[in-house]
Amino acid sequence: MRRSGSLLAPFAALFFFTFSLSAEPKITVPVRTLDGKEYVPLGALVDAAGADASLDLVTQRGKVTRGTHVAVYQAGMTMLLVDGRLVRCSYPVMRQKGEVLVPAGAAAALLRSFFPGTVCTRAESSLVCAPPAQKTVSPGDAKVETVKQPLNGSHDRIGFIILDPGHGGKDPGAIGKGGVQEKTITLSVTRKLEALLKSNLKGVRVVLTRSNDSFLELGRRTDIANGHLKGGENGVFVSVHVNASVSPRISGFETYFLSQNPSNEEARATSALENDVVVLEDRKHGGAHDDVEHMEAMMITTQIQKESSLLAETVHAQMARVLTGHKSRGVRKADFFVLRGSLMPAILVEIGFITHAKERATLQKAAYQDRVAEALYHGIAAFLKKYNSAIKNK
Ligand SMILES: [Zn+2]
Repeated sequence: MRRSGSLLAPFAALFFFTFSLSAEPKITVPVRTLDGKEYVPLGALVDAAGADASLDLVTQRGKVTRGTHVAVYQAGMTMLLVDGRLVRCSYPVMRQKGEVLVPAGAAAALLRSFFPGTVCTRAESSLVCAPPAQKTVSPGDAKVETVKQPLNGSHDRIGFIILDPGHGGKDPGAIGKGGVQEKTITLSVTRKLEALLKSNLKGVRVVLTRSNDSFLELGRRTDIANGHLKGGENGVFVSVHVNASVSPRISGFETYFLSQNPSNEEARATSALENDVVVLEDRKHGGAHDDVEHMEAMMITTQIQKESSLLAETVHAQMARVLTGHKSRGVRKADFFVLRGSLMPAILVEIGFITHAKERATLQKAAYQDRVAEALYHGIAAFLKKYNSAIKNK
């Protein structure tokens, strides 16, 4: 699917600005208000910062560099990658009349990262980034800066949880002896988990990608999740599945997060199994998946993968604690289609094997489903606690 790579180079429009900066940089960029949203024209920012910039007109993806500092953005996306760190904004980067407009909060985050130790403040119709006024900053003194007027574009607390019951409708998922279907078990466990989260986690929205036996394309599941990012909050995405194996002896639960290099052949087989539904989908949404593919390159090595890995470890630890008598198969990496487009920490849990006689019987029991939901609940709650306290301490 990465067929457009060779097409891109001739279209790359490059514009360079190189300025030598004084020892004490003071950068002033204009802020423009459109529909109540504040933007900084990227050209002016690049100019003022003495940075280089390039924009790929085909992918709408651009890059800003200065020395070893790199920021990547894509028009239409509510996020930027700044020095390997994800900066989320509550509205997207825009391209308008040949100009790139960056949300003011993201522009401030970019400047603070490119010029460590500076403080960004909002003046009348501009954004000013300079060393703190009171004293000169020593090189090791890049402390957390205070922003007089709060600006969007920092890391946001987790405000919602997306629960994704695997499969549904015309896609039954894995089928076990006696005709038991994966989609039925995943929905039942997810609804129990939803109830636990809703009654125990206040101030966090819980959203299901499907709440009945309906078919949902894989890309649509992450679209639903990403749609909730608009408020400037972060979220977590948890997809619940039941595994299947050619060997009836294999049992246990495992937790996955996205990686392009699956940990082993078995993980590759599991992801092939879960990705199978792509062929059942209509082809008309191909474009959206292509965009997702372009974003992937940016995402995979960055913040989201780190957060997803932590989410996977935290949730899996609770499963291992609660689901005694069942085999823990550990945390694994795999290339699951449903995790690919996610712009938030995302995991996929395989709660047991439908092809293992004893586990199949257990998985259908309400009492065991309650335990699985309880384990997932404790895992998600523990992750939120870790995550939100890490944000607070930034
Ligand atoms: Zn599945």
